[in-house]
Amino acid sequence: MMRGLIAFAALFVAVLAKETFEGVSIHILSSYCIYTSFNVSFQLDVWMGVTGVSYPVDVRVPPHTLESFKSYLDSHDLEYSTMIEDVQAVLDMEREQMKSAARLVQPRNTDSFDYANYHTLSEIYSFQDMLVAENPNLVSKIVIGQSYEGRPLNVLKFSTGGSNRPAIWIDTGIHSREWVTQASGLWFAKKIVTDYGKDSALTAILNNMDIFLEIATNPDGYYFTHTSDRMWRKTRKPNPGYSCYGVDPNRNWNAGFGLPGASSYPCSETYHGPSAHSESEVKSIVDFVKSHGNIKTFISIHSYSQMLLYPYGYTTTPAKDQAELHSLAQKAITDLASLYGTRYRYGSIINVIYQASGSTVDWTYEQGIKYSYTFELRDTGSYGFLLPAKQIIPTAEETWLALMALMDHTYKNPY
Ligand SMILES: [Zn+2]
Repeated sequence: MMRGLIAFAALFVAVLAKETFEGVSIHILSSYCIYTSFNVSFQLDVWMGVTGVSYPVDVRVPPHTLESFKSYLDSHDLEYSTMIEDVQAVLDMEREQMKSAARLVQPRNTDSFDYANYHTLSEIYSFQDMLVAENPNLVSKIVIGQSYEGRPLNVLKFSTGGSNRPAIWIDTGIHSREWVTQASGLWFAKKIVTDYGKDSALTAILNNMDIFLEIATNPDGYYFTHTSDRMWRKTRKPNPGYSCYGVDPNRNWNAGFGLPGASSYPCSETYHGPSAHSESEVKSIVDFVKSHGNIKTFISIHSYSQMLLYPYGYTTTPAKDQAELHSLAQKAITDLASLYGTRYRYGSIINVIYQASGSTVDWTYEQGIKYSYTFELRDTGSYGFLLPAKQIIPTAEETWLALMALMDHTYKNPY
């Protein structure tokens, strides 16, 4: 319990299944500490946790605890609303859409690739190879390491030459269930090769800087979301002595590692892992960033909740560049909103969402990468992680405007 006030406002209920994902997704307005015994005893799957009193919390409730959970909320006068009545039905729709989406024919090039649909890991891998083959003078593929299960950690490098130019890093999908992020990453990759030479701002950036894009940042988790558990968030490394798997790769970085804002319980969705950088998916980026040494902007993309965030997550001490980070975030979200009116909140992680320790951008910021940002893409909870595929392209398009704002600012403000 974080504070005295417990005011659950809206409770979302959503039910899922593949391994049978039944349950309810519940939207709660509260400062209640859902990370401890509360979510364990009701077996809640926290989709969106917030400790501020004015924003709701979204959780998925399994069917066998739903009645007792509702009774609990009622008995504490906690208001809630159902967000998704039947998560399984939404999942089934998503599955059907993937099956029916013209995938009888394998795309032979990135022009015929279906950006308006979700894709499997192998489709992402073949997309990357096609893009490199089609644009050998602009795109190359770097393998920065291997996942726990032995999959390559591929990074696309967009470069027009030079050696060790100042660079921009973008990753998507470090939390595997956030499917709109990997889907947007595919769209960004195509957008870069399409706009280079046509869009003057991007052309200027790429004539002076390199862009690195890791689309499937947690490939084991992503594979698992397609084969077993659509709601899988963490890595897939076993935890010795426990039956549950995985570490939260956005709590595993060596910045405030293990402080409040992460869990030491291996079965938690926010388990920080046995030690900082224990996950190869994290360590590979750490090694890459350190050996590169000239990364100026680091953008880690998540969903959902429509936020643009900068350090810190583990401490309330303001980042020394807070004023600049804040005004740049405001510019980026204003550009983003100009396309479809999508509203974002922005600020430091700890002020806008919650205390989160060991997060990616706290580490990159402490490495001296001034422009360290995290996005939380669409939506604000209507579908949560199950964003309909028809929103992929609009999401990617509007996000691209914000990315351009960040990249352009970096290019024009060398440090
Ligand atoms: Zn995430």
